[in-house]
Amino acid sequence: MTTRQPGTGEFEIIRRFFAPLAADAPGAFGLTDDAARLEVPPGHSLVVTSDALVAGIHFLATDTAADVAAKALRVNLSDLASMGARPMAYTLALALTRETGVEWLEAFAASLAADQRRFGITLIGGDTVATPGPLTLCICAFGCVASGTELRRSGARPGDAVFVTGTIGDAALGLIALQKGLAGVDAADHQALAQRYRRPTPRTACGPRLVGLAHAAIDVSDGLLADLGHICETSGTAAVIESARVPLSAAARAALAAGAGGWRDILGGGDDYELLFAAPLDAEPALAGIAQALDVPITRIGRVVERTSAADPDRLVGVIDAAGRPMVLESTGYRHF
Ligand code: ADP
Ligand code: MG
Repeated sequence: MTTRQPGTGEFEIIRRFFAPLAADAPGAFGLTDDAARLEVPPGHSLVVTSDALVAGIHFLATDTAADVAAKALRVNLSDLASMGARPMAYTLALALTRETGVEWLEAFAASLAADQRRFGITLIGGDTVATPGPLTLCICAFGCVASGTELRRSGARPGDAVFVTGTIGDAALGLIALQKGLAGVDAADHQALAQRYRRPTPRTACGPRLVGLAHAAIDVSDGLLADLGHICETSGTAAVIESARVPLSAAARAALAAGAGGWRDILGGGDDYELLFAAPLDAEPALAGIAQALDVPITRIGRVVERTSAADPDRLVGVIDAAGRPMVLESTGYRHF
């Protein structure tokens, strides 16, 4: 690759910034081999996911290296969690621009190191190339789950309840906060919402605990309605959400009260990286136990219902207000194409 500064060529970057992140994985061979080896515990299957992030699209050009690293890793961890898998290892493909200096790489690697400790995952390989831009990175994460028990999108049944972890809408409101501000919302709430956009909290501990309880699961990346729509599509069902039950943070409630954000942002916006799942109603006590043990709110927000006709795939999820009246919300999630 093109040398940006003396001592920062491809191999120097790998040795200096990334090999330390692979030190705890014997199968990574110190990033000095052509590929890594990964052991899966007996009776388990490997669960694999990959997410690419492009500067200007998935993160803002003004985001710090630490935020970019955390987001790139966490969105992958969220995918593993939604499958009920425990994180094991990840690879990192980086297309760096000439402007990406040593300081950026240092902060990027330090942030990955912190998240590796927090979420119990280790770097095992990757690729480092140069690009005229924009800065692009792709993480591939590997997790494991007892064979045949992974959570899928396809198992929801009419009569199931719909649950969600954490709070919904913060990331979408946080993006608005960062892009144009939320009029009438104070600085602390602005900050709290922006932080939820920049640093999602993947539910890595919760996901595996849902195995055997949830019939279907997904993580909220495109937006609550769109992602519940994905569950309904693959499960052959429809669903109804009660807006009054959707868990909102204090900051999101403030934005809603100020009229700076609406239900369309909260239910239609993406990037929350909470777990959304369908489970039978009688799983509720077990779920309450998990919520308490992990200190992660789990809230019942609606129900899975029979799909009546050859329903429009964009209209599989209905929303009703506190009085039971249907709410009309146009946006149903971010689409790349
Ligand atoms: P190859 O030429 O076979 O693609 P490389 O020379 O690109 O191999 O990589 C050498 C080693 O460094 C490999 O083990 C690879 O997985 C690792 N590596 C390269 N880039 C990264 C990166 N950004 N993060 C982690 N490991 C990396
Ligand atoms: Mg290579």
